[in-house]
Amino acid sequence: MPTYTAPVKDMQFILHDVLNVAQSDIPGYDELDRDTTQAILDEAAKLSENVLAPLNKVGDEQGCKLENGVVTTPEGFKDAYDQMCEGGWIGLDCDPEYGGQGMPYLVNSAVGEMFVSANMAFNMYQGLSHGAISAIQTHGSPEQKAKYLPNMIEGKWSGTMNLTEPHCGTDLGLIRTKAEPQDDGSYKITGSKIWISAGEHDLTDNIIHLVLAKAPGGGEGTKGISLFIVPKFMVNEDGSLGDRNAVSCGGLEHKMGIHGNATCVMNYDGATGYLIGEMHKGMRAMFTMMNEARLGVGLQGYAQGAVAYQNALGFARERLQGREVKGVQNPDGPADPIIVHPDVRRNLLMQKSFTEGARAFTFWGAKMIDEAHRKSDADADAMISLLTPVIKGFLTDKGFETTVLAQQTLGGSGFTKEWGLEQFVRDARITMIYEGTNGIQSLDLVGRKLAMNGGKTIMAFFDMVKNYIKENEGNEALKANFLDPLKKASKDLQAAGMYFMQNGMKNPHNALSGSYDFMHLFGHVCLGLMWSKMAQASYAALKNGTSDPEFYQTKIETGRFYMARQLPATALHLSRIETGADTVMTLEAANF
Ligand SMILES: Cc1cc2nc3c(=O)[nH]c(=O)nc-3n(C[C@H](O)[C@H](O)[C@H](O)COP(=O)(O)OP(=O)(O)OC[C@H]3O[C@@H](n4cnc5c(N)ncnc54)[C@H](O)[C@@H]3O)c2cc1C
Repeated sequence: MPTYTAPVKDMQFILHDVLNVAQSDIPGYDELDRDTTQAILDEAAKLSENVLAPLNKVGDEQGCKLENGVVTTPEGFKDAYDQMCEGGWIGLDCDPEYGGQGMPYLVNSAVGEMFVSANMAFNMYQGLSHGAISAIQTHGSPEQKAKYLPNMIEGKWSGTMNLTEPHCGTDLGLIRTKAEPQDDGSYKITGSKIWISAGEHDLTDNIIHLVLAKAPGGGEGTKGISLFIVPKFMVNEDGSLGDRNAVSCGGLEHKMGIHGNATCVMNYDGATGYLIGEMHKGMRAMFTMMNEARLGVGLQGYAQGAVAYQNALGFARERLQGREVKGVQNPDGPADPIIVHPDVRRNLLMQKSFTEGARAFTFWGAKMIDEAHRKSDADADAMISLLTPVIKGFLTDKGFETTVLAQQTLGGSGFTKEWGLEQFVRDARITMIYEGTNGIQSLDLVGRKLAMNGGKTIMAFFDMVKNYIKENEGNEALKANFLDPLKKASKDLQAAGMYFMQNGMKNPHNALSGSYDFMHLFGHVCLGLMWSKMAQASYAALKNGTSDPEFYQTKIETGRFYMARQLPATALHLSRIETGADTVMTLEAANF
């Protein structure tokens, strides 16, 4: 059975050595000294390692069951969920006015990585709630906030996000679910939603569904869509639960992974719903949930890679096969551990350098969210908006790839159920699909985000990297192995952006055929930047006589691997982009 050890030390390194959180002027960050974050991360680690991780396989094997409209989660899930609630984890970064702990989003992300690595399917129940809480917090009326948020933040009620219908996923303008206005100001919601994560389950007393539907007078396409709160049980004026609403689970999906999470068909048969946010502006409100969810899914991707890597590493240290070609390493054994072999080391370093870089990238993005929300910083808001499709698309593609690499480290054992690596592969796969497929993320990046603010935000990104390199060029230790490769990669990114500017307008296919490569090129540059910053912090720690030189030296060596062996992928992506649409678009559909 796989094991999980929370990477608390690595998280502390990013928070304090790289991001210097305690010195930040973001409101609330002054409380994030090393001891405080250590205490929070240690508690989350205990829960992840001792409670959630042991349930990961149970959830996979038992899955969820639907009987007479009631969904039962796997054994142990309810107890674990209650422990999450008791620990206040569900409302960790939520508004204290409604019972949350008011911690920064960054802390929530660090804790979230542990919960996801330990048990992704389980964590989705509270992950979906979190998105619904944010939408109500941002777009709800004072009455709606008072009515729903305290119980959701406490975890007594959960939340869902209902977009997808049988005939539409990406193209939400096609949705058919209807909202009919009633005399009392409520709406009757009628329609069918599919693949609704955590749509029905036995973990909470009530489920607050957020549902996209079309009310009369909104017009065609996404413009006519509004967002509605549809509780499973009606909530009385005094806050007690009333009658069952006309919403039910019509079926559970049988799927490749995340078996412990109930993926439901949800039928709304004239269910009572309440408008949230402005009429016919539901997509705006939904984007509050979707943007948050996309960052959460990016985190899911690398978090699965991280736990898979840990288990691959354990195996590589134990498994005895063959001898090191330059000299026997384990003379008392029949063979050497496979970690001595260059190809196994290459494989492990691909996993390690990606997951640690991805962690830094995600935490950096989370800090930007705090900057945007807590300081009302419009530039930070724009930058995280630009980076969101990169975090979602690149980190989930590479996270999945990492689980496959980890599986490969185990040879045949990676393919068997016993070792559990195959579950990480299956669970990670969905992250590339939901919350908008990765192809759609790349279209969002190239089609919308590059042009955002008249191109100012992407230029600000280029300037940030350029200035960082310039400011640190005097750092000899950093220059050759980190700054020079970063400069080269960043030039590739700029050249790709320039190609789109010059060729995308005259033929949009030129941009759309290169968007996926651009997303990966961008992701590599971000990880290259992160590795430079991590190496810089490590060199500084070594210079200051750290008591743990091995940790920092290991960081530098892992970073060198990324810069030398992963980052050059930017040249390939650029070269593909610059070939334009021709080879992609020439073939007639009939000849595929
Ligand atoms: C396990 C699971 C859980 C889910 N949870 C939820 C949930 O909680 N709530 C919810 O509302 N939904 C949920 N979904 C739905 C999920 O978000 C959608 O499956 C996803 O957004 C893709 O939509 P689709 O499956 O309809 O694919 P389609 O939209 O049919 O797309 C099919 C393919 O075509 C591509 N494509 C489509 N349009 C374009 C275009 N214009 N340009 C280029 N390529 C295009 C896509 O990238 C994709 O590869 C879940 C799905 C699964 C499987």
